[in-house]
Amino acid sequence: MAKQTPMMEQYEAIKQQYSDAFLFYRVGDFFELFNEDAKKAAKILELTLTYRNKKAENPIPMCGVPHHALQNYIDILVDQGYKVAICDQVEDPALAKGMVRREVTQLVTPGTIVERSGAQRADNNYLVSLAQCDHQWSLSYADLMTGELKVTTLSSHHEIINECANLQTREIVYYQEIDPSLRQQLKKRLNVIFSPIEKIEDNAEINFLTQRVHSSLEKQAVCQLLTYITLTQHRRLSHLQQATSYEVSHYLKMDYYSKYNLELTSSIRTHKRHGTLLWLLDNTQTAMGSRLLKQWLDRPLLLKEAIIERQNKVQSLLDHYFERHDIKEHLTKVYDLERLCGRVSFGTINAKEVLQLKTSLEQMPAIIDIIKNISPGIWQHELENMTGFDDLIALINRAINPDAPAQITEGHVIKQGYHQQLDEYFLALDHGKEWLAQLEAREKELTGLKNLKIGFNRVFGYYIEISKQQAQKVQDPRFERKQTLANAERFITPELKEIEQKMLEAKEQSQALEYQLFVEIREHIQRQTPALQQLAKAVATLDVLTSFADVSEQYNYVRPQFNNEHKLIIEQGRHPVVEKVLGRQQYVPNDVDMPSDTQILLITGPNMSGKSTYMRQLALMIIMAQIGCFLPAKSAQLPLFDQIFTRIGASDDLISGQSTFMVEMMEANQALRHATVNSLILFDEIGRGTATYDGMALAQAMLEYISKHVHAKTLFSTHYHELTQLSEQLTDLKNIHVGAVEKEGKLVFLHKMLQGPSDKSYGIHVAQIAGLPKDLIARSQTILQHLENTSSTGAIAGATVDKKRDETSDLSVAEGATPCDTTSDTAVQQLSLFGETTKTEVEQLLADIDLLTTTPLEAMNLLFELQQRLKRS
Ligand code: ADP
Repeated sequence: MAKQTPMMEQYEAIKQQYSDAFLFYRVGDFFELFNEDAKKAAKILELTLTYRNKKAENPIPMCGVPHHALQNYIDILVDQGYKVAICDQVEDPALAKGMVRREVTQLVTPGTIVERSGAQRADNNYLVSLAQCDHQWSLSYADLMTGELKVTTLSSHHEIINECANLQTREIVYYQEIDPSLRQQLKKRLNVIFSPIEKIEDNAEINFLTQRVHSSLEKQAVCQLLTYITLTQHRRLSHLQQATSYEVSHYLKMDYYSKYNLELTSSIRTHKRHGTLLWLLDNTQTAMGSRLLKQWLDRPLLLKEAIIERQNKVQSLLDHYFERHDIKEHLTKVYDLERLCGRVSFGTINAKEVLQLKTSLEQMPAIIDIIKNISPGIWQHELENMTGFDDLIALINRAINPDAPAQITEGHVIKQGYHQQLDEYFLALDHGKEWLAQLEAREKELTGLKNLKIGFNRVFGYYIEISKQQAQKVQDPRFERKQTLANAERFITPELKEIEQKMLEAKEQSQALEYQLFVEIREHIQRQTPALQQLAKAVATLDVLTSFADVSEQYNYVRPQFNNEHKLIIEQGRHPVVEKVLGRQQYVPNDVDMPSDTQILLITGPNMSGKSTYMRQLALMIIMAQIGCFLPAKSAQLPLFDQIFTRIGASDDLISGQSTFMVEMMEANQALRHATVNSLILFDEIGRGTATYDGMALAQAMLEYISKHVHAKTLFSTHYHELTQLSEQLTDLKNIHVGAVEKEGKLVFLHKMLQGPSDKSYGIHVAQIAGLPKDLIARSQTILQHLENTSSTGAIAGATVDKKRDETSDLSVAEGATPCDTTSDTAVQQLSLFGETTKTEVEQLLADIDLLTTTPLEAMNLLFELQQRLKRS
């Protein structure tokens, strides 16, 4: 095999260490990929694949991207779940002896990417690590952009999957192998990548960051995470906050599917924010506020005092309309402080962003004044965290040019008057300009050429430009030709060279000094990172609560009251999102009346009448209440809920390939096993996915179980009318139904919940509205009538299902047996039913014949038709 060039040898040596990543290798102004990386990346990134040493025996496939466009390509690869190693030149190629030294300066992975573009920029990106000991797992997570670092301990696969789903993590770090079944589920459901580490680092920084974590397993999870971060980032991470432990049981628990079904942060249909509770509530002005709101929605509170504290703040903002609007005005000028702190720590912040930081800080005194005016007491904590930045503002004001460029190496960053030495360079540069003007005037006079002018370009530096015609007249030996253009000649003279020299020196030195001063300022800001992060939290909290006040005012929300007596009473509640979409006028408000002794509401009513909307409405209201927001209702008295379980909507678990009914039963199982007396259960049409009596039996048994063992507040909608009789047995069960009226044979939904069971099921009417053939509708009405006449009671309450099964009277029709099933009594009855209709048809046809106008041939045809019909039946 041909010997490799030194550069390719260097490449291969580095690539070996990063075999699972795309290695972008810096060559001049490009980042190049080679071999398999190049072939794969060319496809994904739509780059042209070329070859190095095309004529060689084994040319090397390669493709590349310009260095300034690298981030875009990284984004694409990382979004698709790949890792990218950036291998840069770490010494100046001009000064290098032999091969330029190159090193991987960063490994970018789905969980560690920080520089993202567009809308994603405002979202958290969490990297997770898992550590296991017996039947316990510690899960730690960090957001490299914001510096958040947390850890918790969990005790089941279910909890781990839920937590990872909540965090929307895309990468999990591990040290000991993860249980294969857990790994498979995480991969399948969440499409995460797994990143192993070979050893766990232990250094002063890691020790500091884990100081507040006491459990050894939790400590291990955090250390794993920090080890991986150190391995991949190769840069300072001073903005990482000390790890804090949290317990999932301190927040209202909802599993991933409940959140998904309730469309809290992502719409089921579009996977976007639009149409979700987050979309409705997010009137925040800052990226930090928007992120915090999402976190709150993921973790509603359990502690009454904490909720009331938020409510009080919302109330104070609601009561002060003008002040609230002023606060919002100021918040619009606050940039993403958490992200800016991250960039300070990474050393990537530029002067424009330092000015953004200043603008943000400048809003604080006004915000503080407003808050102090409205109710200083309840905002004490936020007020404390918003103060203390005057010096930083003053420093940035003194130091940074208001129109500084994004580049920090090319000057014009530091203000005049900030630093004496720099001012001297500025003066030299200014003098230089003067000298140039004087020189130009002098040369004009000496040569007598009025159009002579001094100019500058990056390649040739300063020059004297004279038009082509006039240039011929210049005989002075001081004029040395430098460049020839179409219409002009450019010269240099010793005097101009001298001035140029002085100016270039001043420029170079001033740029270097400006850069150095900027770095000092950056380090000064960096020392204030913890205070800035606290400020970011205070601003985010104010932003979210202002948003709650806005939404509450706009849609007329009311402050809920909490009680310890299990009273759940809502007057004229509305579904917040449906109301927003439909408009206030169109939405029919509904009550929820569940005093202490009512645990179950059994809801009957036609399809499409609003049963599941009613249930979702309640769940959303409880979540809203427990994040501190007000509610779309006239009044609301609520107990504090610890968990919400939902089985709403027939969403197949497509990812794990389970059937609707299986998912339904698994979700029901979760609820029945884990719900407590303080939980909320929402079961929408449970049992629908199986045969009628199977489903009805299961539904009844579940209701009985909840009433007897669980005692959780439960909303149970059903189309099994028979279940309504359960209220006679279960004293904590109340029937309600959705009102509907028939107008001119058509059904009109009122979307209004009324006391008691509905008087009938409206399935056939709904089918009629849906436009099913008239014959079919008529036929189903006949069957229904027959069933109603022959059925003894139509209810199974009190009776066992098995007994019912033995009574074969009309079951198979209800279960959908076909008319030609001649083995059962029912089928016989059906035959006669069917026959009856056909006979009527035949009779009708006979009766309709106008004998006087019928020809013999037509009569024959008709006779044939009638006979055929009778044969077919
Ligand atoms: P069900 O669960 O009974 O089949 P849904 O809850 O899905 O019915 O509601 C059907 C439709 O009726 C919804 O799409 C919604 O637009 C409308 N709807 C439901 N409740 C109300 C209400 N209270 N006021 C106005 N429209 C409603």
